[in-house]
Amino acid sequence: MDRIASFCINHDTLVPGMYLSRVDGDVNTYDLRFVRPNTPPYLPTDAMHTIEHLVATYVRNSAHKDGIIYFGPMGCRTGFYFLTRGIPHADAIRLMADALAFTAAYEGAIPGASAIECGNWQDHDLAGARQWASAMVPVLADWCEAQLTYPD
Ligand code: ZN
Repeated sequence: MDRIASFCINHDTLVPGMYLSRVDGDVNTYDLRFVRPNTPPYLPTDAMHTIEHLVATYVRNSAHKDGIIYFGPMGCRTGFYFLTRGIPHADAIRLMADALAFTAAYEGAIPGASAIECGNWQDHDLAGARQWASAMVPVLADWCEAQLTYPD
């Protein structure tokens, strides 16, 4: 079998940020990297799960909601995938920066965190989600379109 494109990126030189990893027709896939690969600590599953709920809720309620395809965790726990359609790159970066700022400051009940709405509703950590999202806010603050390209 062929090695898939995401395995061809040099994970040794990758730093936290937002990268365009795939373009499939009109669908853009961004990799939102919180952790430099192979340098623990990785995102804990409970905090990661809460970030998923909060960021997904935010982007699906935003002005760009019709262009949101997916937001969800990477199995390696270094970050998240963000799939969009019809959203300019600069707007996708701003939207993600805003979603992380929202997550970093979030107080109250985690949206969708009940047995009827979620497959593992007790596996959440709002304090952890806020802390990890806070660390990414300055990373994305000045992130620009030119930085979406993965470094060689
Ligand atoms: Zn859930």
